Amino acid sequence: MDIQMLGTGSAFAKTYYNTNALFYTDQHTLLLDCGLTAPRSLYKLDKSIDDIDALLISHIHADHIGGMEEFAFRMKYTFGRKPLLFVPEPLVDALWETSLKGGLTQDESASLSDYFDVRRIQPNVKTELLPWFAVEPMQTAHIPNKKSYSYLINDTFFYSADLIFHPELLRQLIDRGCQTIFHDCQLKPPGVVHTTLEELQTLPLDIQERIWLMHYDDTKPQYEGHTGVMRFVEQHKRYSF
Ligand SMILES: [Zn+2]
Ligand SMILES: [Zn+2]
Repeated sequence: MDIQMLGTGSAFAKTYYNTNALFYTDQHTLLLDCGLTAPRSLYKLDKSIDDIDALLISHIHADHIGGMEEFAFRMKYTFGRKPLLFVPEPLVDALWETSLKGGLTQDESASLSDYFDVRRIQPNVKTELLPWFAVEPMQTAHIPNKKSYSYLINDTFFYSADLIFHPELLRQLIDRGCQTIFHDCQLKPPGVVHTTLEELQTLPLDIQERIWLMHYDDTKPQYEGHTGVMRFVEQHKRYSF
């Protein structure tokens, strides 16, 4: 499996695109989160929205779903397609009612399923979304009373949604055989609704060795060389795991 970040920036970063990821299997491309900057980042990569087979969503914030209106319109009217949309069951109604409905409602289109082939996925249940691509959605803490899902992918790769520091979860993941952790990282404390670099640096070395940092702000260049064994994920670079 390969991963290529459309962006690695925090919600308000200006020199990095939103933290959204393209996953490549032998035959398919899946986009995990489609933030405001996703269409522009795809354009910069010389990729078409039509290259994407499926979309998976972590939570309802603009840096993770703000590009879905353009994605939906262009899939429908430019390419005549209804792409797969995987959404944790508890987010499905809110995704439409509290976010997409205003822009996407038109005469003949009045629901999420008018634009997408919607597949509801269940938290804590491992589900094969595409051949060779299985996810286990895990509800993780971000904003109080706001549901947010991180993903364990193919049992070995963890992709954090925006996530409050949760060292026990990281230990459990590694005990279960997880090899790689892509983790959101707020460089400067306080974290409040994110995990800070300082917090990650308190983890045992065997956990830190598996961590790659994403969702960082524009000051990232100042921190290069100061993250110990943890590495920064670079946007647009393709990695194999
Ligand atoms: Zn975010
Ligand atoms: Zn968020």
